[in-house]
Amino acid sequence: MNAQLQPQPYTDFRLVIGGRLVEGASTFDVINPATGQVLAKCPRADRAQLDQAVAAAKAAYPAWSATPIAERRRLLLKLADALAARSDEFARLLTQEQGKPLPMAQGEIFGSVATIQTFAAMDLPERVLREDATQRVVQRRSSLGVVGTITPWNFPMILLMIKVPPALLAGNTVVSKPAPTTPLTTLRFGELCNEIFPPGVVNVIADQNDLGDALTSHPGIAKVAFTGSTATGKKVMASVAGTLKRLTLELGGNDAAIVLDDVDPKEVAPKVFHAAMFNTGQVCLAAKRVYVPEKIYDEMCAELAKLAEAAVVGDGLDPNTQFGPVQNKTQFEKVKGYIADGKARGKIIAGGTIVDGPGFFIRPTIVRDIPDDAKLVCEEQFGPVLPVMRYKDLDDAIARTNSTDYGLGATVWTSNPQRGYEVACRIHSGTVWVNKHLDLPADIPFSGAKQSGLGTEMGVEGLQEFTQATIINVAK
Ligand code: NAD
Repeated sequence: MNAQLQPQPYTDFRLVIGGRLVEGASTFDVINPATGQVLAKCPRADRAQLDQAVAAAKAAYPAWSATPIAERRRLLLKLADALAARSDEFARLLTQEQGKPLPMAQGEIFGSVATIQTFAAMDLPERVLREDATQRVVQRRSSLGVVGTITPWNFPMILLMIKVPPALLAGNTVVSKPAPTTPLTTLRFGELCNEIFPPGVVNVIADQNDLGDALTSHPGIAKVAFTGSTATGKKVMASVAGTLKRLTLELGGNDAAIVLDDVDPKEVAPKVFHAAMFNTGQVCLAAKRVYVPEKIYDEMCAELAKLAEAAVVGDGLDPNTQFGPVQNKTQFEKVKGYIADGKARGKIIAGGTIVDGPGFFIRPTIVRDIPDDAKLVCEEQFGPVLPVMRYKDLDDAIARTNSTDYGLGATVWTSNPQRGYEVACRIHSGTVWVNKHLDLPADIPFSGAKQSGLGTEMGVEGLQEFTQATIINVAK
């Protein structure tokens, strides 16, 4: 590209602290993963700015928590409208920072609007637990204080929306910290919040993976809502222990897709493929390993390979693109390692190639005949590389599905939904879908089993996680 035509990096992003848009103590480059070019000079907060953000959120808390819930709801709905009005701009920015195809980015922004509206429609009524002539026992829910949110880079907006709106509706104030490779939509969202909420109610800082511990151990923070890897989640849990903060962890997964012997491989393969490769495989709930019965194993592998060969990989701004790049260089190198493992331990039947170019492109890759103890099968690959294993009897497939420390999600594919339900009941995870995937409306609770998480997001239960329940027991 002619240097003069090269788009100039954005330089207009600011931290949001105490109602003001402020420069960072320094800046860092945000890279567009499709081009390898600098997309923005991002403000980087230092420890003092983190302290200022927490202090601002603390100062704003008494008035915000005393604001009637109807008014907090009204402002959330205003926020939803404001985001909807700027959805094109947000979607384009999301594609450029994250890599996902523009229609998917639009879907994430519309999903964000709907999520804000879903939480705004919720309530936190008092529950009368016992009432008679001698006593009245009531459970009330009140806010906690300052909530710290920490989000990863695969769905920067939607994962923020299941944290910030319920925290605010419940009467908390917020300090948000996005992932360093996708901070831009979160900073813009912070600006939008700043136009709507009183100063200090929503603060956004950006870091380079260096302020997480300071945020989670901060004595001014009452609760941490974290989404990210299990390894970091363990550090967060240790870090909040010093102050016994409330904590929600949405962590990694290694979800199995179990295909039953009653399916038509031609019909089910595209659904399994989509479940594995959506967002270039960078989904906590992606199908990360597939178990297929012996008798349809070859056909299923061949169908999956065909889909992988036909996939269009490219820049998310190109309307033909189905799969964008891997989001960042570190993950790109990790996924290459899983391809190498697939090659060494199994047989690659589609993909396995790195696309030339400055961006971080990897073609959808299907690996067959790979043993269960291969790294690609046991670990979370978080990229477009799918191992497909065979099974002889269903009990064995279920046992292998459950033989992991993870327990986020799973899918079951069958022509018999009742049979699918029965299999689903035997899987140890927070969500199991039968003949569908990633159906995640914000009014349905979502949580991880085992080392995939702690606590709940979404649904009324997810809202309640941002509250303290108090029992008030009155003698009459
Ligand atoms: P990550 O754990 O590396 O980073 C997540 C966030 O934690 C980032 O904002 C990062 O800056 C921050 N962080 C880093 N070190 C920290 C520390 N010591 N203390 C506090 N915060 C710290 O995860 P990632 O690579 O950005 O995201 C991918 C992972 O997230 C995958 O494992 C994926 O499965 C998981 N994930 C889970 C869900 C879910 O809902 N369960 C959703 C999306 C992604």
